Amino acid sequence: MGNLLTVAYLVAATLFILSLGGLSTQETARRGNYFGVFGMGVALLVTLFHPDVGTYGYVFGATVIGGGIGALLASRVAMTAMPELVALLHSFVGAAAVLVGYSTFLAPPHELAGVEKVIHDIEIFLDVAIGAITLTGSIVAWGKLSGRMGGRPLLIPQRHTWNAAAALTCCALVIPFSFGGEGFGLAMLVAMTVIAGALGAHLVLAIGGADMPVVVSLLNSYSGWTAAAAGFMLGNDLLIVTGALVGSSGAILSYIMCEAMNRSIWNVVFGGFGTGEAVAAGPRPDQPQGEVEPIEIDPLAELLRDAESVIVVPGYGMAVAQAQHAVQEFSEGLRKAGKQVRFAIHPVAGRLPGHMNVLLAEAGVPYDIVLEMEEINEDFPETDVVLVIGANDIVNPGALDDPTSPIYGMPVLESWRAKTCVVLKRSMGAGYAGVDNPLFVHPHTRMLFGDAKDSMSRLVSALRG
Ligand code: NDP
Repeated sequence: MGNLLTVAYLVAATLFILSLGGLSTQETARRGNYFGVFGMGVALLVTLFHPDVGTYGYVFGATVIGGGIGALLASRVAMTAMPELVALLHSFVGAAAVLVGYSTFLAPPHELAGVEKVIHDIEIFLDVAIGAITLTGSIVAWGKLSGRMGGRPLLIPQRHTWNAAAALTCCALVIPFSFGGEGFGLAMLVAMTVIAGALGAHLVLAIGGADMPVVVSLLNSYSGWTAAAAGFMLGNDLLIVTGALVGSSGAILSYIMCEAMNRSIWNVVFGGFGTGEAVAAGPRPDQPQGEVEPIEIDPLAELLRDAESVIVVPGYGMAVAQAQHAVQEFSEGLRKAGKQVRFAIHPVAGRLPGHMNVLLAEAGVPYDIVLEMEEINEDFPETDVVLVIGANDIVNPGALDDPTSPIYGMPVLESWRAKTCVVLKRSMGAGYAGVDNPLFVHPHTRMLFGDAKDSMSRLVSALRG
């Protein structure tokens, strides 16, 4: 039975690797998902035959209830609420690690002594510590992403000292935990859980709105390391491999996103570390100067008829409005009329890495006209019309030329360099980072006010007419 389990775990681990490989491009992402689902199915099934699993009633009860709730949530969640759901799911991984850590401590599966016991205690401690940081950090991220908590960073005085003190205290508590006997050890474990939990919450509270994408992928990485630590604690190879895969892919994604946002990873992890005090997001006295020039549907349709090249910049508002199908119809119509139409995707557009790519793929936009920021940013000056659909922070020129802006330094899609830039949104309201956008009063910009789906549908009709 042992050998069969090992082989099955190997198959599952291979499927997870294939899954990650598949998820790296849009064309293969669906296949990647199937590999992942299949791998997890194999892992769950063979675990049921593990010699340590005895109480099938609990296992089936928990699977039916947990699976049922998960399926219900997944089927109901709107694409715009995906990031907060992901953050919440990370918190479940953290909670599970903490609970498994406590149960392993209170009811050890094997009697251990000497060095083996010390190593096992460290594994429990590590599992609970990373789990508690992931749990509270993810709950705060969920609160921020869902709008239940404000996006402004909480910058308490001496916060780096507090963080360092909390981390060092957690490390130091492992000694009395391991050598203090059961009752005292439990007290130390509880103390460490509280401190690690406070640290996790504080780390995410100190992060400002525009850095949240990196936090989501960092928490994804933490949840992987939590699972790997649990794997060591339980002596489960598959959990170690899977946790390491999730942990390292999350870390790589965080790094890629930091590069894209021109942020140092330490800056994000420690909330403004090394840059002095991060400027808090919010309304600022120096409003952009200039006139807002609105445009109506018919003149815009005329402009597009005369254009040869068009770039569409989708943002969070396109997801909110569910305008992707109208946008697809629009791009198809223009392409049939012989115009060059391309999509420019900013790495943090929307509220989830790859958010825009998923929506455009769902609507049937061909992959080869969907380009990453660095592939298309140079082409704006030669473009006749840019349509910014529900995007704001990712097209904010202040990120390039206003050092006081909280998003200063983040590369943006330079849509104002096109001959005409038309911004579709409902009002002059700010985006996620809460900063004003000088693009809206730029001489090349025209504003088309209204819900993005409604505006795009009317534009498609006008172009047909
Ligand atoms: P923004 O949040 O900057 O702007 C979205 C704009 O969409 C708003 O200004 C809003 O203006 C408009 N909008 C909302 N609803 C509609 C609608 N129905 N029709 C038309 N417009 C609408 O989005 P961006 O995509 O430009 O930037 C993403 C931001 O989110 C960045 O700051 C990024 O850091 C952050 N973020 C990204 C994550 C990721 O992983 N991608 C995760 C977490 C945060 P109005 O109200 O006037 O209509």
